[in-house]
Amino acid sequence: MLVRLKNWINKPSGIEGESDNLLFLTRYLLLFFLAHTIFIGISSAVILLPVHAIIAFAVMMLFHICFQLTYRSGISTVAIIVSVICGFYITCFSLTYGWRSSFPVLLFVVLAYLWYDIAWDMGWKVFFSILSIALFTLIHFFAPAGVTSLSAEHPLFRAIACVNIFFSFTSLSLILYFFCTQFAEAERKLYLYNRQLKKIAETDPLTKLPNRRFALDELKQIENNYVDGGRFVSIAIGDIDFFKKVNDNYGHEAGDLVLSTLAALFASEMDGHGFAARWGGEEFLFVYDHANGDEAYLMLDELREKVSHTAISYGDLTITVNMTFGVEEYGPRAGIDATISAADKKLYLGKSGGRNRVVY
Ligand code: GH3
Ligand code: MG
Ligand code: MG
Repeated sequence: MLVRLKNWINKPSGIEGESDNLLFLTRYLLLFFLAHTIFIGISSAVILLPVHAIIAFAVMMLFHICFQLTYRSGISTVAIIVSVICGFYITCFSLTYGWRSSFPVLLFVVLAYLWYDIAWDMGWKVFFSILSIALFTLIHFFAPAGVTSLSAEHPLFRAIACVNIFFSFTSLSLILYFFCTQFAEAERKLYLYNRQLKKIAETDPLTKLPNRRFALDELKQIENNYVDGGRFVSIAIGDIDFFKKVNDNYGHEAGDLVLSTLAALFASEMDGHGFAARWGGEEFLFVYDHANGDEAYLMLDELREKVSHTAISYGDLTITVNMTFGVEEYGPRAGIDATISAADKKLYLGKSGGRNRVVY
């Protein structure tokens, strides 16, 4: 039963670009107000106010029509119709039952509801606020403050006041609930979306390794946080030997496979030591954030061995490549750029010295 009621209320209108949240909120509020008009209609009939009883039941019928409209019409149009009916209903009964009946408090619900609709621009929302202030002030001046058709001590009067307070606060809480959950959800999506964008902007699509932009940002941070005598940082550049031949002999696709296979090896080997990034083409940058030059040299030589023993299957072929590395220990006086240049120079020393080696 409750599930069916929920499905009935949470049924989308199917209108393109509509806010489902506003739609569901409108239906919940309309059900609240329907119950409210029934109670007020009966109460008015009991205390022999037939015109007010008729008005309450007429408003109930209008709310019922609005409820049906939510399945067919644009929700912003329905929202404004509902608000106008509410404004009339609240004013009419405030003037009859007086200020102390708490009818005017229901105006806060209408105002919060109108502000909830994202389709209205700020100018309209400010206009609704001014209109509400004017209406609230008018009611304050014209609604009887003291004795009305019912004395303030009459149990029915107290019941009406309590119902009004209850409806105002539950409706306001409902609007706030919708607002907060929607806001939190939007925030969460934005956070995930930003994280995804950041990841895309920092990742090389072929090798899935961090790209040069990420590497430079990380190195900047390492430089900024570097404490002399704290920890050692070493930077190396590795370049695949005669990689052009891989492309020339087996094709560009085979070359790509070599790059991505070696990149996976670098990522797993650097885990816990720092990171590897694609520096460009077939060059990779290795940052050891807790190793001095000698330690980095030993780890890189081990990596070099692993690279040359990695057999990469491409169709019926098996491709193997070698790599040459240049490594330099970072020193705060030289800075990151000079350390990278020094590693690059050593790489080219390694190339001219015969390749497949680590130069420190
Ligand atoms: P060396 O030992 O001196 O480094 O020789 P090399 O052939 O590796 O050097 P060179 O710089 O002449 O060639 C690098 C080649 O890498 C040229 C370029 O086509 C290739 N390359 C760069 N990026 C990619 C890529 O993303 N995919 C493929 N398949 N090849 C790439
Ligand atoms: Mg090369
Ligand atoms: Mg190169």
